[in-house]
Amino acid sequence: MSFFICHWSFVICRRAAASVARSWACAMHTDTTQAPLDTVETLALRYPDIPVEAIFKEDILRRGMAWSRDALEIAAGYKPKAYFIFSFDLVPIAEMRQGENTKAPEELRLVGGPYDFKPIIVSVRLNPSSPYRVEKGDEGSLLMKLDGQSVAGVELQKAPSYYHRTLANGKPIMDIAPTIEWGYLLYLTVFRLCQYFGAQEECQFCDINENYRQQRKAGRPYTSVKSAEEILEALEIIASTDSVSTAYTVTGGSITSTLEGKSEIDFYARYPEAIEKRFPGRWIGKVVIQALPKDQVQRLRDAGTKIYHPNYEVWDRRLFEIICAGKNRHIGRDEWIRRILDAADVFGPGNVIPNFVAGIEMSKPAGFATVDEAIASTSEGLDFFMSHGVSPRFTTWCPEPLSVLGRTQAGAPLEYHVRLLRAYRDTRARYGLKPPQGYGQPGLGNAVFSVSSFMDVLPPAAAVQ
Ligand code: SF4
Repeated sequence: MSFFICHWSFVICRRAAASVARSWACAMHTDTTQAPLDTVETLALRYPDIPVEAIFKEDILRRGMAWSRDALEIAAGYKPKAYFIFSFDLVPIAEMRQGENTKAPEELRLVGGPYDFKPIIVSVRLNPSSPYRVEKGDEGSLLMKLDGQSVAGVELQKAPSYYHRTLANGKPIMDIAPTIEWGYLLYLTVFRLCQYFGAQEECQFCDINENYRQQRKAGRPYTSVKSAEEILEALEIIASTDSVSTAYTVTGGSITSTLEGKSEIDFYARYPEAIEKRFPGRWIGKVVIQALPKDQVQRLRDAGTKIYHPNYEVWDRRLFEIICAGKNRHIGRDEWIRRILDAADVFGPGNVIPNFVAGIEMSKPAGFATVDEAIASTSEGLDFFMSHGVSPRFTTWCPEPLSVLGRTQAGAPLEYHVRLLRAYRDTRARYGLKPPQGYGQPGLGNAVFSVSSFMDVLPPAAAVQ
């Protein structure tokens, strides 16, 4: 009982602190020797305009979560983690002792508890050593705990009926067309490898090639190249059984030479072409591939694609050259930026949404040493793109141990993520940008985007699809 009183005092305190916290927010950094819960609560007091739910979510995303054995057995009855592109785990499968890779859910929804959480959806990133741990509560309920203290209740999503079905060739639909974002987004990774290969070419935060190998080794059906026919067959079943999915993403690794005799645009464009021909306008079509020349981007638009994600990853020139060495060598930073702006002419600026991997600005050895420097740099990038009406978005960096950067280090400090959310929200507001299309409803309690809180911190809007 005293614990609840303590945390209700915290909530009241947080409200009272709102008027004074801003004055010293920039001057202080979180003490990294603090216990994780103290760090969250300190930041919640310092940044009262960021919902405490979003602060916990960012912390869970950067640290990952553990599962007790009995909680994991309950989770095994719900929608499982499909490993939709990367591992998004903080340990390799070989080090999971409870079969977490096959039993853990894709996402969970935190709600209620001592902080009175509004519902917030969090992607499941596995880390048996994390201070965050999902445990079984009373009567089969699940709780998220931090260092043994309850944070919120945990809800899970049922697997859609098509997750139990296969294509005519026997491949599970969960492999061909999994859903994330609480069912909102069909994630079509049509090429599970990347032709940027090895430490000199692969983006240093990315484990796509290594993850493919570990999944195959673990026995997961994991199709390396999905045919357009397989995608259409899966979507046929989904369209006839599902009313939740609203958007799809076609994506995969970069193609620097050819794949199946096709260039990058020839390979990837045929998927939205086939989908939109068969199901015109049924879903919001999104494509995540490299920044391509304008005439090639036009092909995606002509096919019916609504949103284009030429992922930029990190703003700082020096860090882009080091961390995204393959992209820098094949396309180059200045050209990548030029192509993003060209794409804005084709799609409309609000429909060009380059991803930043939030946190790699502070990775060692090349990254910024302080939160102030990292925030200043990424804010400059946000300002640049948003001044052109282009709205980047984030994936909170998961230091995957099979990636170059994730082998040796943990993620960025939590304060960096909290301040980034403010910079994102405030820069959008300064340029009067509407919430992005293709992400569902914005705002705490409504948002479904699970690998960053950027949608949770936007104001709610009535008419966003
Ligand atoms: S381009 Fe970079 S981030 Fe994208 S799949 Fe290849 S290595 Fe990964």
